[in-house]
Amino acid sequence: MKILLKNAKIYGAGQADILVEDGLITGIGSYDTADEVHDLSAYAAVLPGFFDAHMHIVTGDIEFNDRALRAWAQAGVTSVRDMGIGTDKPTHPTQDFLAYRETIENPECAHCYTCGRFVAQYHGLNHVMSDGAETGYGCKTPQDGADAVNELIDMGCDGIKTSIGRGMNGKQVPIEEEKLRAIAEAAKARGVWCSAHVLDAEFVKTLLDAGIPEFAHMPTDRVSDEDLQRMVDQGVTCTPTLCSIQAPPPPMPAGAKMPKMGGPGGPGGPGGPGGPDGGMPPMMANKQEQEDICVDNVARFHKLGGMVAVGTDTMRMESQPHVARMPVDELKLLYKAGLSIDEVIAAGTINAAKLCKVDGELGSIEVGKKANIIAVKNPVDESFEALSHVEFVMNRGKVIREL
Ligand SMILES: [Zn+2]
Repeated sequence: MKILLKNAKIYGAGQADILVEDGLITGIGSYDTADEVHDLSAYAAVLPGFFDAHMHIVTGDIEFNDRALRAWAQAGVTSVRDMGIGTDKPTHPTQDFLAYRETIENPECAHCYTCGRFVAQYHGLNHVMSDGAETGYGCKTPQDGADAVNELIDMGCDGIKTSIGRGMNGKQVPIEEEKLRAIAEAAKARGVWCSAHVLDAEFVKTLLDAGIPEFAHMPTDRVSDEDLQRMVDQGVTCTPTLCSIQAPPPPMPAGAKMPKMGGPGGPGGPGGPGGPDGGMPPMMANKQEQEDICVDNVARFHKLGGMVAVGTDTMRMESQPHVARMPVDELKLLYKAGLSIDEVIAAGTINAAKLCKVDGELGSIEVGKKANIIAVKNPVDESFEALSHVEFVMNRGKVIREL
């Protein structure tokens, strides 16, 4: 079946008709007939579907995931990437999610790329939660890391997520460079992306020495110009998730115990991050200050030529108001970090696709790519508010929203 999108003012490319067949864009130019025609002349801008390259699937909440993936698609975010499956179930969450994903492979839902479980330090950050539930592979040796990577990719995961840090009690042993290198090399050998959680500038060198190609987050304390330059030189990319710094914390799975803010072991408390004896770079109580420093890190990274992509670090839709919608907050913060409007749009589309190694099929309106196309009534300006009202959505060649 041929679907024609007439008079599309393609963002950054001028007006044209877009021909879609079997879920793919097969022509951009001037066409008259098709089995189904949608006139887009009333829309100010036609853009590729957006891509949130950092969110989290929590398998205990399948129904929320289902609702979230539908809400994302309706909001014009047609692709998302899960960056580490949390769980409140004893079974292997990656397999649960991959089986569930099969059932939602339809245009009504955003497609969810996933890394499955974290590949983590044994008894370190993202291996076990405070209630003992395992959220990751606990690697005792570099070989454990490589084995975990291969198991996840064999299982059907799209990429790998690892983490460096001292955990919420500030006392966990950070993963060593040799393990990170084994993880990065195994992922590279499988041709998949490999992203490392990092919030502390002190760990940037280790990640660079280990050859980790992507940072999940940007540290919230100051990264030196020298380290940022090394990131750029090594082609390291980043999802800064700036909007997550001031976002309300997600709810913990049933039974999980989190140290209280300011309490013993909690952020800002004795023994906790930023606390008197936390032994960790300050996780400042002042979230605005933290955000400003992070924005400055991103600004300098961008200025040096570093590539960033949009990610929100959202988890469950009930608790976090910015979940499962167009990440306008993040777009605004990237603009604040010095990206132009066009560069912000690229961060939310083609750059995200590049980080996920799917830019051959997603991220721009081009012949041969998947027909993930959105349209907005108002022109896109530096407020990005036009994007919070996406009135037309085609996902994988099917119109799922239209005024
Ligand atoms: Zn995250």
